[in-house]
Amino acid sequence: MRRREDFITARIKEYWQGVFGWRDGEPMPSLEDHFTQIDLAANSGHTLGHSYGPKKLRAIRRMTIHRVFKLLDEHSNLVPSLDEFFSSLIEHFDLTVVTTNWDILAERCLERRGRFKYLIGERYLSGRPDLMAGISILKLHGSANWGYCECCRNLITPELGLGKIAINFQLLLEPDDFRLFPGGEDVARDIEGVDLRRCPVCGGRWSVRVATFSYRKDLSVAAFQAIWDEALSSLRQANRWLFVGYSMPQADIEIRHLLKTAQLARMDPDQLSIEVVLKDCPAASENYRRFFGLPEQALFQKGLDDWISNRLSTFSLR
Ligand SMILES: [Zn+2]
Repeated sequence: MRRREDFITARIKEYWQGVFGWRDGEPMPSLEDHFTQIDLAANSGHTLGHSYGPKKLRAIRRMTIHRVFKLLDEHSNLVPSLDEFFSSLIEHFDLTVVTTNWDILAERCLERRGRFKYLIGERYLSGRPDLMAGISILKLHGSANWGYCECCRNLITPELGLGKIAINFQLLLEPDDFRLFPGGEDVARDIEGVDLRRCPVCGGRWSVRVATFSYRKDLSVAAFQAIWDEALSSLRQANRWLFVGYSMPQADIEIRHLLKTAQLARMDPDQLSIEVVLKDCPAASENYRRFFGLPEQALFQKGLDDWISNRLSTFSLR
């Protein structure tokens, strides 16, 4: 596994060096640029420079998502304050979580408080359809906790407990991706020796579909549409929105439009209360001010821990 991960690291660095002139010790290219350059070239059948054709670019894309999932997996410990945060919200509100995060921190908290559901008509690993009730978690960009069958097009999630399906089942590792690069044959053979990728519903091959940081996100997966429709409906009906740690980047044009639509699709948009919790990010704060016309007091800059200590109890009473 070490050899495989080192190989992936080397290929990502090579891509940065060749495409962005990156050097060791210099700031890394942004994830937006990393993915957008891949998507714009690969999706139109072009090469990026002399070295990267569409196949290689897609390989780099899969390897990078795998790497991000691995990093999320290594930093997925439950934050105690987050637990308190969700407990209080569940107690006082009819909660729906709308998130762009691939990680499963919210799921871990809600699992301890009862149950949650993804509302994607997901299947479990055993093949049974999901009939769980609970708090909705709407993951607009997909999840590290879902597999997607390319054949029957079901989303598949663990039945009991939470695991990172994409990592545990090596869903983003294609042997042929590794063969595109010198020295990749050995790694490809290692991966072929462990074939975990049989869909529990139809026996077909399953993989991962997530929306990346690209300006050209692929949101065409049918399940994403259902999630987005549900998010619009939930946001439209809610009287209060609380944003936590989301910078609302310009690249998220679809989400910005979703939010604007849901905000204005009510008799009196002024009745909607919006609060934003950020951590020392004036640029994100400015995003919210300019997009929603929020007053200074609706924007918190000291992070979630501070907000929980100083604001959560008042917030829950309103
Ligand atoms: Zn299937």
